[in-house]
Amino acid sequence: MLTISLFMSASTALAFRFDTDALKSMGDKLKQLKPVSEKDEIALGKGIAANLTGAAPLVNDAALQRYVNQIGMWLAMHTDRPNLPWRFGVLDDMMVNAFATPGGYVFITRGLLMQCRDEAELAGILAHEISHVTARHALETMRKGAVAGLAGDVLGEYAKSKGHEGYSKLVNAGTEIYTRGLDKEDEFAADRVGAVIAARAGYDPYGLPSVLQTVASINPQSDAVALMFKTHPNTAERVEKVLVAMDGRLDKYSEQPKLQNRFAQVMQAHVAAYKPAKR
Ligand SMILES: [Zn+2]
Repeated sequence: MLTISLFMSASTALAFRFDTDALKSMGDKLKQLKPVSEKDEIALGKGIAANLTGAAPLVNDAALQRYVNQIGMWLAMHTDRPNLPWRFGVLDDMMVNAFATPGGYVFITRGLLMQCRDEAELAGILAHEISHVTARHALETMRKGAVAGLAGDVLGEYAKSKGHEGYSKLVNAGTEIYTRGLDKEDEFAADRVGAVIAARAGYDPYGLPSVLQTVASINPQSDAVALMFKTHPNTAERVEKVLVAMDGRLDKYSEQPKLQNRFAQVMQAHVAAYKPAKR
C-alpha cells in the first residue's frame, strides 16, 4: 500500500546537521516570519517523516497498517482539515511513543500499540497526534524559530526555488523537534482536542486518559519510555488536566464504543505476544 512503499523507500538516517552561521543569523530571520503554504507544510512533513522512519521502519504487515490507517482516517475526517494527505503508520519499535509530522503523517510505535486495551485507546492516541497536525504545532515551533537553523525566509526560499539545500536544511532542523519535544501547552492542548475528536468520531473519549494512565504506570527508569517522557509533560499531569477539561463536556459520550473485541482480534492476529494490560 501507498503508505508502506512511501516510507519503506526512505533510507535517510536520523541525522542532524547544523549550520552554525545559519544559527547566528536566526535572530534577524525571526523578524521576517511568513506564513507557510499548505503545500510546503506537506512537503516538509513528508521529509521529516522520511528522516524519522529511516531510523525506525514500519511494521511489515499490510493488514495491521490498514487497520490503523482506517481508524486514523476516520478520526481525521472529524477535524477541520479532513483533506490533508493523512497517512498513519505503526513503527517497528518497542519504544513507547507516537508522533506526527506536518501535513498529516502520524506514527505510533508497536511498543505503544501494545499498551492499548481497546480501539478507543488507540483512537485517543491517534487523535492526540492528529490535533498536533491540525493545529500546526510542529510547524509553528519551526516557524517561530524555536528550532536551530530555521526561519521564515528559508521556507520562502524553498517555496520559490524548490531548492534542495533549503529543503534539507528545513527537514533536518524540523527533525530535531522530535528528539526535544513540543511546547508543554501544545501537548495539553492536543490531549484536550484529541478527546474531542475521538468523541466526534463516535469513540468513548476516555480512551485517551485511560491509555495515558497505563503509560504513567510504566517504570520511568525503563528505556522504553525514555524518549516519550523526555519529549512530553509528566503523564500523570496530562491525565489530570485532560480529565478536568473533559468533565461536564465529554462525560456524556463515555458510553460510546471502546471496540475492545475488534481491537483484540486484530492485535492477536497481527501483533505477536500482545497481552492487554489488566483494567
Ligand atoms: Zn503530543
